[in-house]
Amino acid sequence: MKREFTVGLVLAGLFFLAMQGVNLLPWAFLVGSFIFLMVMVGGRGLSAKFHVVRDATDKQLAFSDIGGQEVAKREFKEALEFIVKQEGAEKLGIRPLKGILLSGPPGTGKTLLAKAAARYTDAVFLAASGSEFVEMYAGVGAQRVRELFSRARQEAKVQGKKNAVIFIDEIEVLGGKRGQHSSHLEYDQTLNELLVQMDGIKAKEDVRILVVGATNRADLLDSALLRPGRFDRIVKVELPDCQGRLSILKIHCQGKPLAENVDLEKLARDTFGFSGAHLESLTNEAAIGALRAGKDKIEMEDFLEAVDKVIMGEKLPRRPSKDERQRIAYHELGHAIAAELAEEGSVAVVTIVSRGEALGYTRQTPPPDRYLYTARELKGQIRICLAGAVAEKLMLGEGSTGAAGDYKRAVELAKKMIQAGFSPLGIVSLKDVPKSDLHRTVSKLLAQEEKEVAAELAGFKDLLRELAAELLAKETLEGHELRKRLALRKAS
Ligand code: ATP
Repeated sequence: MKREFTVGLVLAGLFFLAMQGVNLLPWAFLVGSFIFLMVMVGGRGLSAKFHVVRDATDKQLAFSDIGGQEVAKREFKEALEFIVKQEGAEKLGIRPLKGILLSGPPGTGKTLLAKAAARYTDAVFLAASGSEFVEMYAGVGAQRVRELFSRARQEAKVQGKKNAVIFIDEIEVLGGKRGQHSSHLEYDQTLNELLVQMDGIKAKEDVRILVVGATNRADLLDSALLRPGRFDRIVKVELPDCQGRLSILKIHCQGKPLAENVDLEKLARDTFGFSGAHLESLTNEAAIGALRAGKDKIEMEDFLEAVDKVIMGEKLPRRPSKDERQRIAYHELGHAIAAELAEEGSVAVVTIVSRGEALGYTRQTPPPDRYLYTARELKGQIRICLAGAVAEKLMLGEGSTGAAGDYKRAVELAKKMIQAGFSPLGIVSLKDVPKSDLHRTVSKLLAQEEKEVAAELAGFKDLLRELAAELLAKETLEGHELRKRLALRKAS
């Protein structure tokens, strides 16, 4: 309303001046340029809208609502103690903590930690993202930084609080190393302003500000940001381990009706490498699956289906031709048999249903969380990757383009072997090995494993044929069915 009124008033004024015989052309040019600038700045004008959490409207989050991340929570809480026990800290002359940096992969709960910090310290919470500050025009970002800090002080006063937490996500966008961007004047000014504002935070202020930055790339940050007195603490927020995944699953299953057969511990074991965001999506997808099937409780099969969906994407109605389906079946069974030979009991499911990018897939049950691999285990993984194409060649005479993704992964594994000193090159630094030597060593490692797995699968030709026929009919084969047939085949 206010904007319409102003526009109306300006137009009326212009009309009046034109009637008086005033030349409006220079004015029109000026106004036009101003509007153009505003649009280019991103429709937000010089000031940006920051997300403010108010007690009454947003549910405040506690550290207990965050699953896993025990180390990060402990370190973060320790850092916050200085704010909670402000008087004691002042008596001892401790200077205030100005910034904490949360560093870790996407979706691991960095935003949640910052929100919980706001509640823990009884502070107002303002959130902004690094990309919101940086525009093409010099000075705009710096203005937004100033505005964010003054907004934090104002909000705290309005809400009668003594502390304010400013959360800046993707801080590497605005806090990247200086002098590296093409339009570096703007980037540098924005970062300088942030440094100035952080330096301006005083111990004896009405409102104490704590800046919490989050990044997936701490290595990109300017060293000035990380020096003592600015982002004093760096808290690492890693992907959750099995216990962490279990507690995140429990949090996101609260309030959802679960059937008796739901085994969250098994799900936690099966979801190695999932972030908190993946797990949240998993529980949501499982509930959607149950709703679609008209159930009133979420069953284990809905969760298992959701695991595949979160990893591979939505089931696609793509229908490959009959010959292609036969090829896909051989390919997947090649992977599955090689996986069982490398580690018995490791296959969870084999399917020729298209999902996301994949025309079919074999999902392995990950063993308990692993951080180290031996040469034998890495070779086993390479064999599993190559087994799809090997089975195609064995049964149909030639391979296909379907193996491109497997080859990429096999090359990565071979490089991992070289890096770990498991190759004929001995202990080397990957980046110092000449490209031609690297290429030759990778090819040799892969050729050796290809030969091994071809010899292994050659003994299972009949079984491959039988199982492919079954897979074409049923589309999906459970790991235990495969193991039963393999055991029978080995016994005969
Ligand atoms: P990004 O780096 O991409 O900004 P982030 O680390 O800030 O990600 P969040 O935004 O905190 O991640 O998490 C995204 C969502 O994932 C949350 O809203 C929550 O549903 C879920 N989530 C992530 N980690 C956890 C956790 N530890 N406990 C419970 N839920 C979690």
